[in-house]
Amino acid sequence: MLASAAKLSDWIVGIRRELHEYPELMYEEIKTGAVVRRTLDELGIKYKYPMATTGIVAAIGDGKGPCVALRADMDALPIHEEVDVPFRSKVDGKMHACGHDCHTAMLLGAARLLKERESDVHGTVKLIFQPAEEGGAGGERMCDEGALNNPDVQRIFGIHVWPYLPMGAVGSRTGVFLAAAGVLEITVTGRGGHAAMPHTTLDPVMTSAKIVTELQTIVSREVDPLEPAVISVTTIHGGDAHNVIPQSVKMGGTVRSLTLDGLRFLQKRVREVAQQVAIANRCEATVEFPGNDYPPVLNDATAWGSARAMAEEMLGKNAVVELPPVMGGEDFAFYTQRVPGCFVVLGVKQDGDGPVYGVHHPLFTANEKALPVGAALHASYALRALEELR
Ligand SMILES: [Zn+2]
Ligand SMILES: [Zn+2]
Repeated sequence: MLASAAKLSDWIVGIRRELHEYPELMYEEIKTGAVVRRTLDELGIKYKYPMATTGIVAAIGDGKGPCVALRADMDALPIHEEVDVPFRSKVDGKMHACGHDCHTAMLLGAARLLKERESDVHGTVKLIFQPAEEGGAGGERMCDEGALNNPDVQRIFGIHVWPYLPMGAVGSRTGVFLAAAGVLEITVTGRGGHAAMPHTTLDPVMTSAKIVTELQTIVSREVDPLEPAVISVTTIHGGDAHNVIPQSVKMGGTVRSLTLDGLRFLQKRVREVAQQVAIANRCEATVEFPGNDYPPVLNDATAWGSARAMAEEMLGKNAVVELPPVMGGEDFAFYTQRVPGCFVVLGVKQDGDGPVYGVHHPLFTANEKALPVGAALHASYALRALEELR
């Protein structure tokens, strides 16, 4: 499979670069989806579209069970690309900084590999191209609109490119792999006034500073030190002048845990602490958790065991690593809530000893030599899982 994929390398890289030039944000994956559908049409693969606004589900095989799904996400990020490559983003302020262009191209590579072997596909392989992974819970909407039904998916597999691992290495683990994550917004309202007369105001800046530091004691004093938890305040906006105490301050951030219960606990305590610290400072805090809370990505032991063995056979034992959990979130979690599955990361570190820029960084790059490897992993996993499920 790896040798076949290597022969498709230029084709897969070509698709990836085409997608990379025109990044699209969540639920706006119009051009991206068109490239996917055009390619599926060229390959003679049938698909259902639209699902979850811009999503696509293709199917290869005899249309019956067993059924295995492979998943890619298609959306980009509101980041201005700073990488100097001929195929850099042509859209100011948008960039494929999380490698979802690679994911889509790898899954199309797998589509071609599997279509060439369709007589060996005993059952159905579904290819899920979903929108809105970056906060929009596109995976949940795909599930709600039936992406896992008819025939019913019995196992699902997904890959994320990972710049922190050497090119072609594969990593994952059994159990919780990625965290439960949610968005945090706090508005602190006081009473503005002249900065020279603080006693005539109710200062939301000072109050916000206390809230930020006080929130950290939830993690350090209330959560078991052996249970990972993150509360990060990442934005603070308030005030316009040196001599004016503003009326209010807005803060944003993220809350994470390895369990949904842990996430709910953190959210409850963030609300209580922020509100009570505000009251102690004669201000008022409103706390919201807008958007979509992502559950943790739970890898099934059998699914990862199978993926691990498959990757070891393909790439060698040394190329496969057990990883600790990561506090990043992933909406692949919505699939693993419903069916057993396995999410793995694929090393895309560049050759040499240059600096590593992580996902979501304006200088993030992926080593394209890993793309045929990803396509081969997808295709091999599907065939192997179908055999195991028969
Ligand atoms: Zn991302
Ligand atoms: Zn991502």
